[in-house]
This record gives sequence, C-alpha cells and structure tokens, in this order.
Amino acid sequence: MSRSITLIELLFTIVALLFGIAGATLFANRFDGNWARPLGCFSGCFVFVLLVFLLSFLKTRLVDGIPYIPICRNGQCHRDDYRIDTKEDRACWTCKCGDSYERVGRRFVLLEEKNERHYLIWHPMKGWIADEKHNEA
Ligand SMILES: [Zn+2]
Repeated sequence: MSRSITLIELLFTIVALLFGIAGATLFANRFDGNWARPLGCFSGCFVFVLLVFLLSFLKTRLVDGIPYIPICRNGQCHRDDYRIDTKEDRACWTCKCGDSYERVGRRFVLLEEKNERHYLIWHPMKGWIADEKHNEA
C-alpha cells in the first residue's frame, strides 16, 4: 500500500536535513578528520529531534493537559470511555454517562441543553482544576 507524504512530513524532513547540513558544516569548520562531517550531520539531526520533543512536551504541559480528555463530572469515565460525537453541529466528546464535553483552548466545557457550563480548566502547575469562576456570568 503506497501513501503520499504530507506537507508537514515534508517540512520536517527538509528542516531536519537543514539541521544536519548546519551540523556538518559547523563540525567540519571546527574539527579535522573524516568523522567531522558525518558526526556533525548526525548531531544536527539529533538537535532537531530534541527540539521537536521539547516543543511537543511544552505544548502538552502548557496547553493540552494530561490527559488531553480529563475524567467526567461523575468521576466515572476516563479518556478511553469517551467517544467522539457531534451535538448541535459541534464536535464533542460524549462519555458513557451520556454527558457531552467540548475542548475550548485549555477548558473542558460541559455541553448541556442549549447552553454550556465550564467544568474544568487545565493549569500547567496544578493540573485539571474546577473552572468555577466562569459559571457565575
Ligand atoms: Zn461519564
């Protein structure tokens, strides 16, 4: 089965190669020996992979939350208990209790009949915490 390469995969490959070329050039200018270019190329690619992992880790830690879909308001359903659903033309997660939730930025919002109620918000230091302030309005 053949699969075409996506734009993001192509960009990642190009940027990894650029890091490899930069590493090879840097090492070749600094060190003598046949090993300098290959080791520099490998080091450049390794630095790129480390940067991708670091950015991914920071995005998960600061924005996405761990786990991405928290426990439901009844305390019964975990990440794997949700199914992807639509409610009033909005993509949402519905847990086994029948409640539907939507991710809005760092918020996990409960969708009730004709309105929404803030339920949890991801805090990078505290984890998932109650999002009470915004229900008063
Ligand atoms: Zn539930």
